Amino acid sequence: MGHPHVLCLLIRFLDKYQIHERLPFLAGACGRGVTSFHPERDMTARAVYFVHIKAWMPKWIHKRGTQAWKYLDSSDHLLVRASKLLYTRYFLWRVGHSPTRLLGPLWRRARERVQIDITYSCNLKCFNCNRSCEQDPSNDHMSIAQVRQFLEESRAAGNPWQCIHVAGGEPTNHPQFVEIMNLIVEYRDKYSPSTSIELSTNGYGERVSRMLSHVPPGVQINNTWKTTKVQTEFCSFNVAPIDLKEYTAADFANGCLVTRLAGTGVTPYGYYPCPVAGAIDRSFGLNLGRRTLPKANDGMKQELRAFCALCGHFKLLTREALLGPVMSPTWVEAYARSHQDPPTLSRLPEHRGLVQIST
Ligand code: SF4
Ligand code: SF4
Repeated sequence: MGHPHVLCLLIRFLDKYQIHERLPFLAGACGRGVTSFHPERDMTARAVYFVHIKAWMPKWIHKRGTQAWKYLDSSDHLLVRASKLLYTRYFLWRVGHSPTRLLGPLWRRARERVQIDITYSCNLKCFNCNRSCEQDPSNDHMSIAQVRQFLEESRAAGNPWQCIHVAGGEPTNHPQFVEIMNLIVEYRDKYSPSTSIELSTNGYGERVSRMLSHVPPGVQINNTWKTTKVQTEFCSFNVAPIDLKEYTAADFANGCLVTRLAGTGVTPYGYYPCPVAGAIDRSFGLNLGRRTLPKANDGMKQELRAFCALCGHFKLLTREALLGPVMSPTWVEAYARSHQDPPTLSRLPEHRGLVQIST
């Protein structure tokens, strides 16, 4: 009788402190470059390391650690292979229905982080983009009044954000990009001075550089300096777990590291458990975007079950380098439907309210 109890406690401990994500050889090596770290796309133990640990890590330890990581990543040693196999087994068991009911979801949405996809337009259109900018192009974007709505709701909720992250698509493609950045900075200065503001950009082309020079001070720019639409390190976003037999018993409410790192997603169609989910809705037309800001105690499980079943990020990472589009049948059909008859989704309400643009 004692053993299952001890096992439960051990698993709870591993999950609580995300231990499996901190041990590289258990996390499933993926061979990605670390220079263009992108939280919502780089779901490895390295993501946790770069977000939470690197800032205070002495340089020499970081260097040695990187060397050790590379060695383990490429090693074909029996122990390394056995660790990966064990972790794969553990992962597939852990995301099953019973362990999830017993232990709770593997990943919880970060309640203090939010990512706003202000546009789905992009000037690069990479293969396997997790906003479908290449696979299902769109110029749809959030209006200024929708951004105001989000900021006003944030103010009413007591300004819960440690970080507001502006993304897309390529955010500088938004026709009112500078006004939106000014608006968010003004909100931060007036109502939530401790909130950091981040902006992700592909850094591709002269126009993007020009637009970036207008970003107001106090915004951290994460430039991924992309130069080509082939992104070998991306995950196979368009391979839906429901198309793979290993995942037939999965409870998709477990989510993935994206919801843990990126937090709530805000899109023209409402609030989602992560920003990627909003982009999935755009092509599948499930129309599950929330019209109001989800409360902190809301796990958004219904939404996770719907979107993570379709999302390649849910899967365990492999080391495959993506040289072109990769798609499973569910996505092939969804894109064909969407191209023929684009879904119509409800939209986030608009607000003319309290936060004023001073420019
Ligand atoms: S630059 Fe980013 S948003 Fe644009 S297509 Fe590539 S991955 Fe998608
Ligand atoms: S939809 Fe689910 S699996 Fe996909 S990125 Fe979001 S939380 Fe992860």
